Amino acid sequence: MIAELVVDLGAIRTNVERLRALVRPARFAAVVKANAYGHGLVPVARAIADLVDKFCVYGADEALALREAGITKPILVMGPTEAHDLPEILAANAAITLWEAAHFRREVAQIARARDRRFPVHVKIETGVARLGFDPRMASGAIAVLAADEDLEVRGVYTHLAAAEELESSFTLGQLKTFRDALQPVDSLLREHHIIRHAAASAAAMLFPALRLDLVRVGIATYGIWPSPETCNAGGHSLALAPALTWTTPLVAVRDIAAGQSVGYGCSYHTTRASRIAILPIGYAEGIPRALSSTGTALVHGKRAPFVGRVCMNMSFVDVTDVPEAHVGSQATLLGQDGNDRIDPNEQATLAGTIGYELVARLPPEVPRRYVGYEPGAKTPSSAIASARSSVPS
Ligand SMILES: *Cc1c(COP(=O)(O)O)cnc(C)c1O
Repeated sequence: MIAELVVDLGAIRTNVERLRALVRPARFAAVVKANAYGHGLVPVARAIADLVDKFCVYGADEALALREAGITKPILVMGPTEAHDLPEILAANAAITLWEAAHFRREVAQIARARDRRFPVHVKIETGVARLGFDPRMASGAIAVLAADEDLEVRGVYTHLAAAEELESSFTLGQLKTFRDALQPVDSLLREHHIIRHAAASAAAMLFPALRLDLVRVGIATYGIWPSPETCNAGGHSLALAPALTWTTPLVAVRDIAAGQSVGYGCSYHTTRASRIAILPIGYAEGIPRALSSTGTALVHGKRAPFVGRVCMNMSFVDVTDVPEAHVGSQATLLGQDGNDRIDPNEQATLAGTIGYELVARLPPEVPRRYVGYEPGAKTPSSAIASARSSVPS
């Protein structure tokens, strides 16, 4: 085995239980796009299906994979859908997102009529990300038209926040005001049709109670990862998140290198002392950001082993000079706990100049994942809760 990702489903359940309790009475949707942030779409969804009110995905393929896996909870497709996927999406009873009045108007009508069922939709309103959504000035008119459309079942209206992770409260509360003002003319219509409102992702769900509305859409925190150092500093003392991911790989060679020699492509790194350099059998093709070259860190026998030289396509180097017990077959931990030390996604990501989100989302689906901490049908073992630790700010 070249590398392994161990996913603690018990930790993920613990996070969902804590977050769900925190946001109550708002409902809880788990965001499982990008292969459940690298943790594995179907195993994660199966492990938390009994705890969540809804799943949010990006694309139709993810919605269909969840239904094939036997998930029956409501699903919202947040990203764009293609017309040819609409029949399967309706058959799967997943909701799509509309952000333009003319979006699929004809196709959706045809399919809904052919199946004699209304197409479930959520309407998105753009309030500050400049991404997808109706212009707030047009939103109430559009919602009135869509809610009256016999081919559609409008289940929700939502928006997305731009700067909650940065704790930008004036911008975030401004977005809330824009959203509320846009919906004000259709307030009674929303109530009559039981149309829910939602805005908050992890950061706002945890730190901006006013943004919780009827439902929160929580991604990154589900996996025990803080959205940003700011959110961790603000909330880390009152809300413990349990990290779920451990990423390990064995040392496949350990070589002694004299002082002053170069290591790796481009001769970008030179040893400053007689060194022991270990080779990891994974590189950027296996999910190690190349930006970790000479800046990343690994744990070997519980001690820090810094990345040296450039990360190659399928291999990389760590310096184990200060880990005398390191040998071929020793395990290097790139994410997770080893001995008394741990590396969280945000810490490793910061060393690569990126964020925890990108690091985990880019873990290739082909890397084998081993699931621990939860058996469907069994209770969460108390060990998983006992080992739940608050992740350390990076
Ligand atoms: C990804 C995403 C979320 C979840 O964001 P986190 O910060 O991971 O909680 C929520 N809503 C939308 C529209 C998203 O794209």
